Order: sequence, then C-alpha cells, then structure tokens
Amino acid sequence: MADPKGFLNHGREVAQTRPVPERLRDWNEVYVPGSLLPIISKQASRCMDCGIPFCHNGCPLGNLIPEWNDYAYREDWQAASERLHATNNFPEFTGRLCPAPCESACVLGINQPAVTIKNVEVSIIDKAWDNGDVAPQIPERLSGKTVAVIGSGPAGLAAAQQLTRAGHTVAVYERADRIGGLLRYGIPEFKMEKVHINRRIEQMRTEGTKFRTGIEIGRDLNATDLRKRYDAVVIAAGATTARDLPVPGRELGGIHQAMEYLPLANKVQEGDYVTPPLTAEGKHVVVIGGGDTGADCVGTAHRQGAASVTQLEIMPKPGEDRPAHQPWPTFPMLYKVTSAHEEGGERVYSVSTTHFEGDEDGNVKALHLIEVEFKDGKLEQKPGTERVIPAQLVTLAMGFTGTDTENGLVQQFGLELDARGNIARDADFQTNVPGVYVAGDAGRGQSLIVWAIAEGRSAARGVDRLLTGASDLPAPIRPTDRSLTV
Ligand SMILES: Cc1cc2nc3c(=O)[nH]c(=O)nc-3n(C[C@H](O)[C@H](O)[C@H](O)COP(=O)(O)OP(=O)(O)OC[C@H]3O[C@@H](n4cnc5c(N)ncnc54)[C@H](O)[C@@H]3O)c2cc1C
Ligand code: SF4
Repeated sequence: MADPKGFLNHGREVAQTRPVPERLRDWNEVYVPGSLLPIISKQASRCMDCGIPFCHNGCPLGNLIPEWNDYAYREDWQAASERLHATNNFPEFTGRLCPAPCESACVLGINQPAVTIKNVEVSIIDKAWDNGDVAPQIPERLSGKTVAVIGSGPAGLAAAQQLTRAGHTVAVYERADRIGGLLRYGIPEFKMEKVHINRRIEQMRTEGTKFRTGIEIGRDLNATDLRKRYDAVVIAAGATTARDLPVPGRELGGIHQAMEYLPLANKVQEGDYVTPPLTAEGKHVVVIGGGDTGADCVGTAHRQGAASVTQLEIMPKPGEDRPAHQPWPTFPMLYKVTSAHEEGGERVYSVSTTHFEGDEDGNVKALHLIEVEFKDGKLEQKPGTERVIPAQLVTLAMGFTGTDTENGLVQQFGLELDARGNIARDADFQTNVPGVYVAGDAGRGQSLIVWAIAEGRSAARGVDRLLTGASDLPAPIRPTDRSLTV
C-alpha cells in the first residue's frame, strides 16, 4: 500500500493548465510542462489499496492501478512502468485522453475527491520515456504466420503490437497518409501532441510491425485478395460514418462534418499546409453536438481566431452531481468543462436546429433553432422559442453511426453486421468469416480509446490462438461486456 494516511493528509490536486491567452496562441498541450511530477507522489499516496479495487473494474483495460500507485508513491518509475505496460500498450494516449471511468469507480470517491489515477498514469509513462525505459520488445522467435491489420487507430495499433510481440509477421494497412486513426487526425494537438504517436510507431517498427499507408482495403486492394495473402486479418477500421443533419439548408457552403474540419487543422501541425483550406478565422462558428468531438471543434475554432463560437446540444444540461440512477461506481453523465470550454464560447442546451439560412453566394449565414424538452420520454419543440444565430461555419459533431460500408470492405469479406450496424463478432472477436477478426469502434460502435486498446489486445489473443492453438496473450475483455460503456 502507498501511504496508509495519504488520503487523510493530502487533498486531490490535478495537472495545472497554462493561462488561456497563452495557450490560444499555440497548439501545444494545454498543461504546464513539468507541473505534475512534483505533486504526483503525494497524489499516488492517496490510493487506499482497497481489498476490492473497483478502479480495476472501472478501467476497460483492467489496469493494475493500486500496484502502480504504490510504485509511483515510492518513485520507483521503472517498476511502475512495467506494471502499467502489463495491461496497456499505450498509456501515454489514455493518460492524456481517457475520460477516466476508473476515477468514477475509485472507492475514495464515495465521500472524497477520487485519486487522480489518470494523472498518475501519464506521469509514469512520460517518466518512462524520459528515462529510456520504453524499449522495443523484439520477439525471440518468429511463428512464420502472417496477419494483416486494417486501420491504424488505437485498436489496430494495439492488436498489431501484441501480435508482433507474439512472433507473427504483421502488416498494418491504413487508407490515410499517416498512421494513428482518430489519434492522428481527429484529436487536436492541444489534447495530445503527435510526438506521442510517432515514437510509439518507431518502437513498433523496430519490433517488426510493417506499416502500409495510403491503401484502402475494399477500394485499392480487394478484401478477398488480402485474405488470401495473410493467415489472419484484424479489422480495426473504426466507425467513421458520421451522423448527418438533414434539415433545409444543409447543402449550403460552410456546413461541414467535424471530421472534414478537424483533420485539416491537424494537417497544418503536420506541416502539410501553412493555413488550413477550411478555417474558422474571423467567422461566427456554430458547433452542433455537445460531446468530445464538438469540444475539439470549439478549441480548434478559438485557436484559428473565430469571431464567436457557439456549441449547441439537443439534450438538457447535465447536473454537476451524480444522479440517483447513476450511483457509484458507475460512470455518471455529469456537466463537464473541458479545456476547450475554459477557453471561451457559449454552450446552449435543449435546442434543435430547424434550418440553415444562406447568403446570395450559397454559403450559410445563419442557423435557426428552437428550444426542446422531454415530455413523456419524447423530445418536443417549445412553440414561440425560435431564434436565429449568426453562423458562417457550422460543424456537425453529432456522433458516428458505424463503420464505412461504402468502400466495399464489408461486402467483399461477406461480413455480417449486428443489430446496431457494427461488424458482428463472437466471444473471440472473430467475425462470421473464419480468420477475420474485428476490434475497436468497427465492432463496438463509436466509443473510447481505452476500449479500442482493450479490444485490440483481446482480438490479438483470439488471432494468436487461431494461429498457434494456444495463447499467452492477455484478453482484458469480451466483446459482449458493455456494462462499463461510457
Ligand atoms: C474528434 C474526436 C475526438 C475524440 N476524442 C476522444 C477522447 O478525447 N478520448 C477518447 O477516449 N476517445 C475520443 N474519441 C473516440 C476515439 O478516438 C475512438 O473511439 C478511437 O479512436 C477508436 O479507435 P479505432 O482504432 O477503433 O478506430 P479509429 O481511430 O477510427 O481508426 C480507424 C482507422 O481505420 C482506417 N480505415 C478505415 N477503413 C479502412 C480501410 N478500408 N482500409 C484501410 N484503412 C481503413 C481509418 O482511416 C482510420 O485511420 C474521439 C473521437 C473523435 C472523432
Ligand atoms: S486507461 Fe482510463 S480508465 Fe484505465 S486507468 Fe487509465 S484513465 Fe483510468
């Protein structure tokens, strides 16, 4: 156990963020560099090493949280990193980006602020990289078996790393020009600088994983041909089909899906453009959708110099305390102020867009909305609450409906979809096609990075068992486990 009196002696303290005017002038992560390390040992000491660590269950990866809290408290960073990597291939991603359902399940959280598990996680991994403790793990023997992974987001990368380390020859196929999936082109730099992806890819290359970018399976390479070339396939193609807003005026210029807008800003940071082809500079921006994707649009628009930013959400504003029907240790829906929201803009709840209004050039100039409320479980418009707001750039961030079925991948493999439109799989993450597995958002539906990594690891175990008859690879979860969905 860390310090038996840690939680009595120390309150919760989290990473410091840089002043808003400073961080709006750059794209670097919003945190004060180095601010976490001096406080993290004390923070880790607040862990009570509970007999039943509910945080393990709260974390989809089953991260061994009390064990690495103890090592972090003692500042034994090497041991902490070893325990962290036992369950998580990429703690630098989750330590920065995870909504931390583990903290909602922390026993201390019942009557005190929870342990800052996520901050401890990111401190351990950043220290491990600084100390040179993150070495490539090159397999001692090759199995002679080959695996193709389709998609290079967190699910594909986790599956590929596990299978490469198990001795299989793995090639990752990615249709985009760079590796990383939504980590690369969805999530903005200010949430996670891309150096963290790049050095993992270098590690994976050294371990033997091959990467093939600019190849879309189903379009550039037929799925059945791919299947013939490899002993097994893991589909980790994400759930990239965005939900649309079919209201009058949707066809006007200046209305874009969030994932048409955000990648261009990320490409500026990659050096592909000096200024993005689509920018919020000087414009009244409206973001439709109150989730993470919407928040990323808000932060991006502010950095590009938007005249105003308004974020619309159809649901009512969540409360600040756990509602009675979401008791500890579940992950509650609470009002969240992300770093992007600290930076400005207005958040409007319980509203629905009725139509867009255009100018003489066919570009959007205003958005018409109306207030809505739930009545008998149904969403109803409130008459007389219509209003108009200026809108010269509108981004749609209303979620994703499933994996891309237009590029031929699903049809060419002959894959079955489940009732929710995701690629169906069994308890081993195998689809209806023998030897073809699925992991991450493609099978689960739109979710989280931590789930994608957990599923990638689990699917890798299924593939390893298929190829070798048995597997020592860990399987953190089963695909049917939706109890912890956040
Ligand atoms: C803007 C945004 C912000 C987010 N922020 C967070 C966050 O802060 N925290 C969090 O936990 N989650 C966040 N999420 C969700 C998270 O990013 C996803 O759940 C996660 O990336 C899913 O991982 P994946 O590997 O399944 O798929 P993806 O990351 O979507 O990767 C799939 C990859 O497959 C490629 N691909 C698709 N089809 C083919 C094909 N036929 N051939 C070759 N390649 C193909 C795609 O180009 C893509 O690179 C965010 C999502 C978005 C959109
Ligand atoms: S991955 Fe997420 S849920 Fe798991 S320990 Fe880290 S922050 Fe918590």
